[in-house]
This record gives sequence, C-alpha cells and structure tokens, in this order.
Amino acid sequence: MTTGKIGVTTENIFPVIKKFLYSDHEIFLRELVSNAIDATQKLKTLASFGEFKGELGEMDVRVTVDKEAGTLTISDHGIGMDADDIDKYINQIAFSGAEEFLEKYKDTANSIIGHFGLGFYSAFMVSKKVEIRSLSYKEGAKAVEWVCDGSPEYEMKEISKDRRGTDVILYIDDDNKEFLEQSRIDALLRKYCRFLPVPVISGKVQEWKDGKYVDSDKDNVVNATEPLWTKKPSELTDKDYIEFYRELRPGEEDPLFWIHLNVDYPFNLTGILYFPKIKNNIDIRQNRIQLYCNQVYVTDQVEGVVPEFMMLMQGVIDSPDIPLNVSRSYLQADQQVKKISTYISKKVAEKLDRMFKDNRKEYETKWNDIEVFIKYGMLTDEKFYDQSKKFFLLRDVNDNYFTLEEYRKLVEANQTDKEGNIIYLYATDKTEQYSYIKGAEEKGYNVLLMDGQLDQHLIHMLESKLEKTRFVRVDSDMPERLIVKNDEQNSGLNPLQADILTGIFRSVLPEIKDTNFIVEYTSVPGSDIPATVTQNEMMRRMKDMAALQPGMNFYGAMPAMYAIVVNTEQAAVKKVLEEANTALESSVMPLRNEIESLNNEITELRKQQNENKDDNEKESLKSQIAEKESKVEADRAEEQKIIKDYASEQPILKQIIDLALLQSGLLKGEALSNFIKRSISLL
Ligand code: ADP
Repeated sequence: MTTGKIGVTTENIFPVIKKFLYSDHEIFLRELVSNAIDATQKLKTLASFGEFKGELGEMDVRVTVDKEAGTLTISDHGIGMDADDIDKYINQIAFSGAEEFLEKYKDTANSIIGHFGLGFYSAFMVSKKVEIRSLSYKEGAKAVEWVCDGSPEYEMKEISKDRRGTDVILYIDDDNKEFLEQSRIDALLRKYCRFLPVPVISGKVQEWKDGKYVDSDKDNVVNATEPLWTKKPSELTDKDYIEFYRELRPGEEDPLFWIHLNVDYPFNLTGILYFPKIKNNIDIRQNRIQLYCNQVYVTDQVEGVVPEFMMLMQGVIDSPDIPLNVSRSYLQADQQVKKISTYISKKVAEKLDRMFKDNRKEYETKWNDIEVFIKYGMLTDEKFYDQSKKFFLLRDVNDNYFTLEEYRKLVEANQTDKEGNIIYLYATDKTEQYSYIKGAEEKGYNVLLMDGQLDQHLIHMLESKLEKTRFVRVDSDMPERLIVKNDEQNSGLNPLQADILTGIFRSVLPEIKDTNFIVEYTSVPGSDIPATVTQNEMMRRMKDMAALQPGMNFYGAMPAMYAIVVNTEQAAVKKVLEEANTALESSVMPLRNEIESLNNEITELRKQQNENKDDNEKESLKSQIAEKESKVEADRAEEQKIIKDYASEQPILKQIIDLALLQSGLLKGEALSNFIKRSISLL
C-alpha cells in the first residue's frame, strides 16, 4: 500500500471546495458520469483503432444507490486506470487544476458555479470519503484502490477486481443525504444525462404490481443515446422533429418549424432550434434553449451564446467549443462564442429566407406567428436587420404582404409628398380607424396594419433606416392632407370669420377628461366631409412611447391633443359660416372694433408708462391701463356669450362636430345619446 499527499499546496482545499460550491452540489453527478462516459468512449476508440483487442462487453454506465451502506457508486466498463494513471490523473493533474481555478475565482466562485468542470474532485462536495476501484484495460494491469477521506492525504493499494473499468464509490456525508434517494438521483440523471451517448442505468424499471410500484428485473436506462440533433438532417422526418420537441417541452403547442444546426468548422456545433408560436406577446424566458457539451447537459442559461432575440426559440445546442469553465461576462466577450452566436443568427436568417423563397404563400400564413420574433431580431441585432430585409414583410389592412422593396415600389408614385418623402400610411386598429382607412383608400393610398406590440419601435427604426420615408397614422389628418403634395390651400377665411367660426365651434366642443381640442380650417374642395378629428402624428407618438417607457412621464401625463379640422369648402360648413356671419356681424363687429381700439390705447399707454419717470404719473397710467384691460376682458366675454348663445341654437353645428367625433370613436356616453336624439329630431 502507498500513501501520499495529493499534489496541492493548500492544506485544506476540500473545505474550500465544499464552501465555494455550496449551492450547486448536484453537479458532482454530472462530472462523475461524464468521466465514466469518457472512459467508455475512449476504450471504444482504442478498439476501433485495433489498439484494444479484448472483449468490449456491455459498455454501459451504472449509477447505484445503496442507502444502507450510505454510498453512491458510479461504475463503468471503460479503459480503467492503473496505479500510474491514478497518480498522474487524479493525484497530480486534476487537482492542481482545481486549485488553480479556486485561487483564480475565489471572489466570483458563486456566480460561476456549475459552469465549469471541477471534475473528479467535485465528489468531495457531497462525500466524506471517496474510493476509486479500477482495473485498466492494459494487458497485465493490476487492479488498484484509491481512498481519500477529504484531507489531502490518500491511500492506494492493489486489490483484486475482475471486471475492467472503474467504480467510483462516494460515501455520502451527513449534509448531503438527499443524494442517497433514488428519486433525487433519477431526477438529476434526467436533467444532466438525458442525452448522453452511452446508456446510463439507474435502478430498475418500475412495475405496477399488487397495488404499488415495485422493481422489475429490467434495467432502467435513463438516457436516449442518440438524440435527434446528433443525426443527419437528411435522415429525419418532420414527425421526428415534432416528437423530439414534445419530449423536450411536454405540454406545449407544436412548433411552427425548426432549424437543424450542424457545423464542424470553424467550430463545432450541432443542435435543433424550434420556432414556437409567439403571437403578439414577447415572453423571453431564459430557459428555453438547453446548452449541451458533447451531449452532457450544461445549462439552460444561454445569454451570450445565442443572440437575445433568439431566446424566443426553444431547443438544444451542443458545442464542445463553448468554454464552460468561465464566468458569464467572460463568455459574452469570448471570440469563439461570438462567432457561434453570429453563426446561429445567420442560420436562422437563412432558414427564414429559404422558407420565404420556397413557398411565399405558406410563409405568409405563418407571418402572424413569427413576426414578433423577426421584428425583435431586427430591433436588437444590426446584422439580423440586414439579413431580414429579404424576408421581412409589411402587411396592409387587407392582408396583403409586401417586402420592404415591394412596398416602396407600390406606394412611391402616389404617396410621395412635396418634399419628396414617401409616406407610409398605417393604421393601428382596423375597426376604430375604419373610416380613416376608407378615406385614405379612396384617395388611392395603401394603408399598412401596424398593430403589433413592437410596431411603434419598428416604425421608428424603419424611418431611420429607409431613405426619405415617413410613417403617418391614417387618422393623423384628413385624407386630403395626409400626404401634402403641393402647397396647402388657404382656408379662405378672413380673421373675423375665422374667429367667429372658431368661437362657435369651440362653444360646442365636448368636455372630455385629459383631452384638448383645437380647431383648424382647411379648404378641400372635393371632399364632402365637413370636419375630421385628427391627432398629430408626433404628439401621439410621444405619448405612445411614454406609455411604453417608464421615465417619460412628462409626455404621458400630457392631455391628448386632437385637432378638429373643418373643411370650409364643404356645403354645410359654408352655410354655417354664412349664416353665422350674417347673424353675428352686427352684434360682434362693434365689440371687435371696440376691443381693437382699446388695445391700441393700451399699447400707447404702456409706451408712455415706460418713458415716464414721474412716480405719480406712472401710478395713474397703470390704473388707466388696468381699467382698459378689464374693459377688453368684459367685451371679450360678451362677444363669447353672443357667439355661444348663437351656437347653442344651431343644431347643425353640434351635428358637424359630433359626426367628426363619432368617426374617430371619441363620441361616447351622454354625448353620444344626445347626438342620437338630435339626429332624430333633425329628421
Ligand atoms: P477531466 O475529466 O476534466 O480531465 P477529472 O478530474 O474529472 O478531470 O479527471 C481527471 C482524469 O482522471 C481524466 O482525464 C481521466 O484520465 C481520469 N479519470 C477520471 N475518471 C475516470 C474513469 N471513470 N475511468 C478512467 N479514467 C478516469
């Protein structure tokens, strides 16, 4: 028997391992089973090269719980180790690596737990004593036993062992008794070993007998040794992919389509990514993509390895080239990982492009389900935006789909304004904005439907990316003014007329909470619509954005601003204006004249006040100004009263306003019911 000291400098490294790795004890099982698998694969490789000529025998790995003895044993039938090997691999190398690791990451150990291979020594996280019993495949090898109780001292001696391979026996310590529960072990194996390439056996298959589950005599194999992603895509059917998906994500709706990744240069990567149905709801869950390393489960936290928007996908990726023993921030900065991320992104873009080209009709039917994904990708990933130009679609209110290029061609001729901007009209709600949409369509314009969760952001981005392009919501102006093609028509009103008209319209405007109206005039000869409620595009966007982004409360708290655009060319408006002029001119005109002369006098008095140095005179000027100002105020009030009284007796006026409000969905409650009553009485 030999005894010795494991090649470490720090005396008590084991307590350190236990402490640092406290929260993720369970990974020991992954590490040990992986070692067993490696040993098995190595022997298979040697055999295939003719370097091992013996009988391979059953090459599975067994995990055995012995609750009574307090042990957990991992056995393989692989290459095994002789005394020299143990010395070299266990006593020296492996451990120095672990020590170095801990030294380096002392402070951050907690955040990186579970993402590195501490290897064999992770056994000490859960054990008070560990035994290795091994027989090497080498001819004439002597079986050895190595025992270590968690101090840096070990014992090694020759034993008799007939079966080639290695048993690692863990004497589970009192704090970790959970690892002596078959169910806990099975759950862990399911998590980490589900797709390992060598059969892993844990206990027996359960059988229902006499009212309870009992062990049958069949071994319980926990893994599928050839998971779908390791197979050739050409050998697989849609059904295979869907079944695999169901296995990965039981209970979820079948995926829309998938991408089989398979690359071996410049890095190694396989995997299958599925597109679930996302609808209009971004739900980035971190655990949809599982990362494997040679079929060993590593993590489902894949930030950094795949672009953020791809986290909407589900599936598996397997790459031995993703460094597992590093912290997350390092992972994100790693060049290799960046390449992998770029590659995946490119593959996804290619897949979408191919689907679009191969069968555009079908692609369009899937658009609703994938648009969120694509838009999210465009917004967050510059490269993906460039790639997406080929398969990104705009949809109009009549469910026609266009690529960006096609759409530009479609609207260029008829929707360019006088400044040379191409105006993309859009609606956010087909029902609410129905009449505006119709109005625009009557002018021969196309209207896009932008009702998705990300569309406001997308509009912003497209405006900055597409040359001379502006998006204008279809209700932001009258159809005639949505796209200003030549210099605007003057309303043709003189100031007095405009004042009277504003006065009478203002006096009949409804009072709506958090909503302000302004009255504007335009002259649109061809249109038979008397007035339209519009909302300025920029103002509305500010408010919309504020609603999406916290910290922009200023805009959010502002009242909504609408304009009532009155068409002075329309017959009913013309009539209202003429009648009002006739009726009001004689009473309003004198007041107006008086206000004007009062204002002139005030200006004159102010001038004197400024030039005059005498305090007494200044005082007297001040009171004269005040007197005249209050007279102006009184005149104004009187003028307004006259106008209001007049307006209140003009049902047509109210009707014009209410029709405009009704068209934009702003006429509600009592105002709506008044409108109906008035309409009936007008009949
Ligand atoms: P790693 O697996 O990362 O190399 P480990 O500490 O897990 O580090 O193992 C160190 C070495 O010990 C392995 O590389 C292997 O050579 C040897 N080893 C561990 N477990 C076994 C086993 N079950 N059978 C044969 N060799 C093993």
